[in-house]
Amino acid sequence: MESKTDINRDNSKVLFGKAKNYFPGGVNSPVRAFRSVGGTPLFIKKGDGPYIWDEDDNKFIDFCCSWGPLILGHNNQKVKQKVLAALENGSSFGAPTKLENELAEIILSRIPFIDKIRFVSSGTEAVMSAIRLARGHTGKDKILKFEGCYHGHVDSLLVKAGSGLATFGASSSAGVPESFANETLVLPLNNSELLYETLKKHQDDLSCVIIEPIPANNGLLLQDLNFLKDLRKWCTEFSILLIFDEVISGFRVAFGGAAEHYGIIPDIVTYGKIIGGGLPVGAYASSNEIMSSVSPEGPVYQAGTLSGNPVAMSAGIAQLKECSSKDFYLNQQERTNYFVDSINDFCTSKNCPIEIVSVGSIFWFSFAGNKKIQSADQIDSDMNVFNKLHKLLLNKGVYIGPSGYEVGFISNAHTKEVLDKAIELFCKAIDEVY
Ligand SMILES: *Cc1c(COP(=O)(O)O)cnc(C)c1O
Repeated sequence: MESKTDINRDNSKVLFGKAKNYFPGGVNSPVRAFRSVGGTPLFIKKGDGPYIWDEDDNKFIDFCCSWGPLILGHNNQKVKQKVLAALENGSSFGAPTKLENELAEIILSRIPFIDKIRFVSSGTEAVMSAIRLARGHTGKDKILKFEGCYHGHVDSLLVKAGSGLATFGASSSAGVPESFANETLVLPLNNSELLYETLKKHQDDLSCVIIEPIPANNGLLLQDLNFLKDLRKWCTEFSILLIFDEVISGFRVAFGGAAEHYGIIPDIVTYGKIIGGGLPVGAYASSNEIMSSVSPEGPVYQAGTLSGNPVAMSAGIAQLKECSSKDFYLNQQERTNYFVDSINDFCTSKNCPIEIVSVGSIFWFSFAGNKKIQSADQIDSDMNVFNKLHKLLLNKGVYIGPSGYEVGFISNAHTKEVLDKAIELFCKAIDEVY
């Protein structure tokens, strides 16, 4: 499988050999194992700006950016200073600190539709809590999700479409009881007709609909604006809460995420990734009325030993302050467009059926030519071309997520000069694949 021109992975191989004795599959999160692209996963030694270095001292321009959190790139000095300053005072108290207020103020003052927020420690925890809140607040049990959206490893959301025309889901992981999956309805994305029928039929049982308004965990499945508007309208009409899972899109496509980008207001929103500046933070937020159902004010229990951790809050504060600077998102968008357009122009000139789809500073390689991909079933499951491309890119010094279903991210540290170099390497790799 490996050839002489491949990068040296000797140290990573030794480390992975050990890790396989310690962790299932040698990793602490499955996609890191490189199973879909093959070969040994690279063990990363350090990162700085747009670059990472592995344990064999190979250097890469990084477009994975820790799967999204690092919108300022690696080892950002402002984040680092704020974190070090917090650590000087100790790492955790299990009592309130003013840093929680500080991060909340930055967020609540800029996102007008949320009044109150609750910090947790991961995106999964945020989503799990938001679902419980929706159920507790409405007194209804069922939830609806869309095929192709990922919401973390919450039991009731590890559910895929059932067979045939059934709207009720089937669990997509062992260990999730079918009785849990039965509480979850699953629909295809971008299909307003089916959505209307389903919401109307199940309005008395459905507590909420959860969606990634910018689905970015299974390709980048950009939805029609009208579909999202319909969703908003009908959730209101049928008294069903709308949850935007903005763990990936929040603070990424705009400070206020997809809600701001599209001008559509959800009832509950979840955040993660960027919100913690590279440390583990998640959050869910809503109106005063809905958040008053959360413990200790209301009956919906939710708690966390390390919730609002001062070191993690500090990283979030430093990062979101930078994101609040003038033209931050405009600048992100301009550099991303430059990168994406350059590679797409190259592909067109070479007649390659590749199109990079993008929104904000998220991008994804579609291998369907210029066909619009808006639902999970439209993605070609043959990832052979991606896997070749992935390997060629590693050999040339470009790191992207090790799966063709994953998106890439451009950070503030990816300057035009860095992107010029990356464009050259991407085009070379694409040329070699075809
Ligand atoms: C990453 C992600 C999650 C899960 O967050 P974790 O921090 O990995 O638990 C949930 N929803 C969306 C949309 C995500 O992108």
